[in-house]
Amino acid sequence: MPSYRDFHRRSIEDPEAFWREEAKRIHWETPFDTVLDRSNPPFARWFVGGRTNLCHNAVDRHLADRPQQNALIYVSTETGIERRYTYTELHAEINRMAAAMRSLGVKRGDRVLIYLPMIPEAVFAMLACARLGAIHSVVFGGFAAPNLAARIDDAQPVLIVTADAGARGGKVIDYTPLVDEALARATHKPPHVLLIDRQLAPERLNASYLIDYEPLREQFFDAHVPCEWLESSEPSYVLYTSGTTGRPKGVQRDVGGYAVALAASMEYIFEGRPGDTMFTASDIGWVVGHSYIIYAPLLAGLTTVMYEGTPVRPDGGVWWRLVEQHRINLMFTAPTAIRVLKKQDPALLKQSDLSSLRTLFLAGEPLDEPTASWIGDALGKPVVDNYWQTETGWPMLAIQRGVEVLPPKLGSPGMPVYGYDLTLRNEDTGEPCAPGEKGVITLGYPLPPGCMATVWHDDARFVDTYWSSVPNQHVYSTFDWGVQDEGGYVTILGRTDDVINIAGHRLGTREIEEALSSHAAVAEVAVVGVTDALKGQVALAFVVLRDAGGYATDDARSKLEADLVKTVDRQLGAIARPARVHVVAMLPKTRSGKLLRRAIAALAEGRDPGDLPTIEDPVALQQVREALDTPRG
Ligand code: AMP
Repeated sequence: MPSYRDFHRRSIEDPEAFWREEAKRIHWETPFDTVLDRSNPPFARWFVGGRTNLCHNAVDRHLADRPQQNALIYVSTETGIERRYTYTELHAEINRMAAAMRSLGVKRGDRVLIYLPMIPEAVFAMLACARLGAIHSVVFGGFAAPNLAARIDDAQPVLIVTADAGARGGKVIDYTPLVDEALARATHKPPHVLLIDRQLAPERLNASYLIDYEPLREQFFDAHVPCEWLESSEPSYVLYTSGTTGRPKGVQRDVGGYAVALAASMEYIFEGRPGDTMFTASDIGWVVGHSYIIYAPLLAGLTTVMYEGTPVRPDGGVWWRLVEQHRINLMFTAPTAIRVLKKQDPALLKQSDLSSLRTLFLAGEPLDEPTASWIGDALGKPVVDNYWQTETGWPMLAIQRGVEVLPPKLGSPGMPVYGYDLTLRNEDTGEPCAPGEKGVITLGYPLPPGCMATVWHDDARFVDTYWSSVPNQHVYSTFDWGVQDEGGYVTILGRTDDVINIAGHRLGTREIEEALSSHAAVAEVAVVGVTDALKGQVALAFVVLRDAGGYATDDARSKLEADLVKTVDRQLGAIARPARVHVVAMLPKTRSGKLLRRAIAALAEGRDPGDLPTIEDPVALQQVREALDTPRG
């Protein structure tokens, strides 16, 4: 195994040589002529001139060596359905889906918006897009219609793929009315919506634009659709993520760089070997799902397990039984799921044979020490915290399992991963921080392969948002605070912007504020994230009413709170729901009118709000204190 420091140094000092070698992991239909084009910073193009295809590398390439190996094992504890697809079967299903999409006019460069629950057809649809050279944009199934509409207008898809319904915790969620509402709201109107009918929805909509997939699948049962050979830098997908503004950003990924980066990460970070089985409990709507349910395990010839359901239904032993039953070697989820499991009977963990499991990976939010210690002790296996974001596509910080395995440090996701020139910088000067000094986590140019290439159709936003926020430096900002110790271990200290993380789901407080502002009773609103024992963070909302007199009684206030919460559900989805909505007479602001969100969050967490900038009216802070002390009506 390479030494950690040498390996990392080589990747930074000579990225061309480093990544030229790694590029051999994938098939290039046409070899690239240049490893890295740095002519237009901060943009970087990897493997210029090379032509390849993600679907070919994830599926077709394995048909020779592992045709009968399971590629995908699907388990739904919501419907009781379990299905297995060998690489050969997966290939056939993708071809059927690709032929169906092609018959609906989808071609290279077109966008296809995928709004699906965790069903195998989601994998077929994403890989069918990759096969056709179409750009998929998966929207998390928990998002509501206005969210979906905003993404339809931004991505301008030629096709939407959806299902009749999703299911979570035994509750069926009708999708077609949501899609219908989104289409009514959106300016862009894609001609078709392809529908996977799971026969779950009690009242499926029957609109003329809805096209059932099943007859098309029959029609194209024996279809073979050739892979489009794409230039390495052509877009593979757009995945929207939250930022400081209410307008989500489309993170655009390339083809060749992503394939190489993920294939390499399977060896060096995850130590996943061809033939292994990996269970990533996330959702296809998030980046972890894109990279480690779908692309990386398949690129590296593993079997991937896709799961629909919660970790505690029918009981808290369900995931561990899956490990035993499918001889799972690698598991990947978010700390929230482990905090949920920690509340279950510990005997449930002991009832399954976990001998196949080598490592548990956790990412997406801070891993607190008690949770890390509990699960580490309970499993007796390494627990690997890894830090990254939608923008990077694969881990920036980790204790890498396939490079010299450094000793872990509780509370830290570890050291910078190869390819990432990661530096903590002083917020005011941009200078590198001394060990122990808090700073912004930044990345030097160029970002390694697999990271975001740009913001979808908005290069200026990519430059302005990510590369212009650290003073005096042309570096990429992660918008995370961190601190690095003498030994190089980095600890994450939270976001520098107004982004919060609820149960591993990233949400902009601006988005929640905009949803609440749309309610007629609301004049002003502030949303902050506060620490929560289970979800990591929850949102708290403080609203100023237009006509406070109209809601004077406790009863009227409770009704209003419930109504406001419902508004957020409708606009953004239940994941964004504030834990509480407090009514206040005014919000604390600076003299220049900026909301003092950090001070509000500090009060809500029982901390001292610290030195405040010149505050407009100190009474406002007192109001927040009193609201927090008022018990729920
Ligand atoms: P997302 O883009 O939704 O994956 O969210 C990325 C953000 O989640 C990061 O910018 C961090 O704020 C946070 N995050 C992700 N992984 C970790 C981790 N291992 N430890 C602490 N925070 C994390």
